[in-house]
Amino acid sequence: MSKKNHAEVAIIGGGIIGCATAYYLAKSGVDCVLIEKDDIASGTSSRCDGNVTIVDKDPGFDSLMSLKSQELTVDLTNELDLAFEYRALGSLLVCENDVEMQAAKEWVDIQNAAGLKFNLLDRADLRQESPYFADDIPGGLECETDSLINPYLFCYSLIEKAKQYGLRVHTQAEVTGMTKKEDFTIETTNGTFTAKKVVNAAGVWAPFIGKMLDIDIPITPRKGHIIVGARQKPVMMRNVMEFGYLMNKFGRDRIVDERTEKHGVALVLEPTESQNFLLGSSRQFVGYDGRIDINVVETMARRAMRFYPKMEDFTMIRAYTGFRPWTADHLPIVSAVDHIPGYYIAAGHEGDGISLATVTGKLVEELIRGESQTIIPAEPLRFDRFSKMPVS
Ligand SMILES: Cc1cc2nc3c(=O)[nH]c(=O)nc-3n(C[C@H](O)[C@H](O)[C@H](O)COP(=O)(O)OP(=O)(O)OC[C@H]3O[C@@H](n4cnc5c(N)ncnc54)[C@H](O)[C@@H]3O)c2cc1C
Repeated sequence: MSKKNHAEVAIIGGGIIGCATAYYLAKSGVDCVLIEKDDIASGTSSRCDGNVTIVDKDPGFDSLMSLKSQELTVDLTNELDLAFEYRALGSLLVCENDVEMQAAKEWVDIQNAAGLKFNLLDRADLRQESPYFADDIPGGLECETDSLINPYLFCYSLIEKAKQYGLRVHTQAEVTGMTKKEDFTIETTNGTFTAKKVVNAAGVWAPFIGKMLDIDIPITPRKGHIIVGARQKPVMMRNVMEFGYLMNKFGRDRIVDERTEKHGVALVLEPTESQNFLLGSSRQFVGYDGRIDINVVETMARRAMRFYPKMEDFTMIRAYTGFRPWTADHLPIVSAVDHIPGYYIAAGHEGDGISLATVTGKLVEELIRGESQTIIPAEPLRFDRFSKMPVS
């Protein structure tokens, strides 16, 4: 085994989670290699939006984790050399009716009590925000600290800097097998690697990597569609979601038509730096079938027109799909696997992997280096929590 093919830590997966992990490990002086089956950011991390948000997080641990991640992302605007279209504009959640407005008021109170910067917005505030909103939208709320990035550029930016700290990157190297004696031996389509430690950061494919050592990782792909809209009118300057997005994400009841319910559709509108916009979203459990479903696309477009009736005239450039790595309790797995010393999982971020990438990378670095104090409590993200869950 050449020295080049041996590392202290092998990170499997070059999505945003693997790239952030590689960055923090390499920065702290750990000898590491990143192994990716295709190219950097070729999985979910280039088939998503770029919202770094708290607005859609459950108050408590979920929002604390997101806040820490936002702070680290701000730091990276100075630390990394390649810009990644970071824009700190805050984000909005809009309500469709008075029932949602009441729920929004309560949401703001809870988040403010937790020390987060949330504001309630009325109809007039929304008019100020955009003249394109439907007249009957009663208001919404705002999270001041939310931001936007370009996740694709962010991955490359992290990797570029990590390489300066000594990271070695192997793309077009699909991991096909793994064994463990004293070290891990990792077979790929582009050579064999050995490592003292392994981080499985393969997103929705993490269960396949886990199976190689008989580790059963409960992550399921939750498909999402995005429509790319052309820049024509300044419909919005910052990210907007509808309140129903939270209901969808957490599987709660909504009052919407059958198609919207069936495809898990809720408005997300993200203006990109070039002022095109990304229009979502849908949520479906359909395995690994990434084909575009025109019925879903149409339902999403209709949902957008509910909030922005003048969007009927907008040109759509293309559509794409991605797979969110879903877990049953909506939290990622960022954890050691106790019965296989040296094996770590950093996956299962569902619709939050962009928001939580930096805090995840930092936490993995701290776990691997055996730090007693970690950036966030590691306990809620432990892998073994699933074996303690009641079987339904
Ligand atoms: C439509 C949509 C919108 C979203 N919007 C947002 C958002 O606005 N904000 C947010 O926070 N999150 C969002 N998300 C979620 C976010 O995109 C994901 O949580 C995140 O990208 C997951 O990153 P990852 O690194 O875990 O997975 P991935 O990016 O999929 O990376 C895993 C990598 O592992 C590689 N791999 C797999 N198998 C192997 C193998 N055998 N050998 C080597 N490499 C392998 C893959 O090629 C891939 O590159 C969205 C997701 C979708 C689908």
